[in-house]
Amino acid sequence: MIKKILKLIGAALLILIAVQAVNTMRYTAQDTSAVQAELPIVDEALFAAHLGEAIRIQTISTSVDMGARGPEFQQFLDWLVVTYPAANAAMTRVMVGELTPVYRWDGADTNLQPILLTAHYDVVPVAESGLADWQQDPFSGAIASGFIWGRGALDDKSAVVAIMEAVEALATSGFTPNRTIYFSFGHDEEIGGADGAASAATYFKEQGIQMAWSLDEGSMILKDVIAGLELPVASINVAEKGYVSLDITARAEGGHSSLPPRDTAVSTLATALTKLQSGPVPGGLTGASKEFFDGLGPHFTLAQKVLFANQWFYRPLLEIVLSGSPATDAMLRTTKAPTMLVGSAKDNVLPQKATATVNFRIHPRDSIDGVVAHTREMIDNSEIEITLRGGFGNEPSAVSDKDGIGFQALSKTFRQVFGDLIVVPGLTVAATDSVHYAKISDNSYRINPFVFTGEDIKRLHGRNERISVQAMGQAVQFYQMLIRNGG
Ligand SMILES: [Zn+2]
Repeated sequence: MIKKILKLIGAALLILIAVQAVNTMRYTAQDTSAVQAELPIVDEALFAAHLGEAIRIQTISTSVDMGARGPEFQQFLDWLVVTYPAANAAMTRVMVGELTPVYRWDGADTNLQPILLTAHYDVVPVAESGLADWQQDPFSGAIASGFIWGRGALDDKSAVVAIMEAVEALATSGFTPNRTIYFSFGHDEEIGGADGAASAATYFKEQGIQMAWSLDEGSMILKDVIAGLELPVASINVAEKGYVSLDITARAEGGHSSLPPRDTAVSTLATALTKLQSGPVPGGLTGASKEFFDGLGPHFTLAQKVLFANQWFYRPLLEIVLSGSPATDAMLRTTKAPTMLVGSAKDNVLPQKATATVNFRIHPRDSIDGVVAHTREMIDNSEIEITLRGGFGNEPSAVSDKDGIGFQALSKTFRQVFGDLIVVPGLTVAATDSVHYAKISDNSYRINPFVFTGEDIKRLHGRNERISVQAMGQAVQFYQMLIRNGG
């Protein structure tokens, strides 16, 4: 009897191994080879000089002194006009919101649905404390050791400059796009885009303009970022997570701390937070995140490949592994991060209320209502108040078509300009202006054409932000080819 059972188990294992082997062999990669094309000859040194000038105009977004910063923003807009005369002559410009320009480049065929290319020209402030660590002054726009240095070099003035350089070159050569192309350069992305990108979206809506597709920041060409991959990866993000912060409040009597009850508002709140943090929001490898890993899977090492090729068997294991790192966990689920705490103003006074703020980034499968329901369920205390901080939140974006004409144009352009690379759909886990633009676009895609290494990630909003002179040249080539391929 035991022999028979062992035999059966043995046979089952053999079948399992055989199925997995076949699946792994069949698990072939998409074509990653370069698409041959004659690329435009570009003047990298000129682009570097222009980006340097752009960085020196300190268009810093902070919610408090936006009014006072106005002149710098106006200076940047004037700079765009002076620096790109052919582009400005070829296009018409309207201003939306306070300081966001929207350019229109009329296409030859007005029956075609237009497209939209966007970037933002505001930057985050530079922390005083880290100033000494900068190798070049953050607003110098210095060109040194093959890089252009300063705030906005990666995020996102480089994209504004590269797009305008591309239009300038094409307009000078007499090129006209077939499809009308809009360009929008937001002035307040770093503080939510409530005036710039939101006004642009409203403007398009009022004009009855719906884009076939749009492109914004949200990812980069990742080189040596994902372990186990030799080729660079262009993750064209087809969706963006939503954003909401919840204020979680416990109330109590208050009074003097010499005669305290067993629980104060602070300890009640602490219990609530502990319960909330006792488990993650349910998630899993589905949707855009699954497609991201499906695209990468065949390029991994054999051991990893077996796992991805046999997700019917290894999905639970994969999900445990991916949940283990914040970067991949964020792709699998809605994340929650307690960020602020407020209690009593004095050490010997019992608080009448204590509030914690928890920031959620909402996966496309979830919603703001779902986040509130999850929080209530986890805390399981009807006395605790849960409210939307600021009274608002942004739902996650819709998921754009990974087979649509926009995705195809982007994919082709990446392989023309950057050679062999893997193109996959992906998910933007942070918030960008796309949250507004997605409302007026059938399909919105999110990626900047800059090669980005693991080491660059900390430069974003951090110290020593820089982009290589060569990367600027490639970005201009990319936008020129994209306008040809997509326009
Ligand atoms: Zn940005």
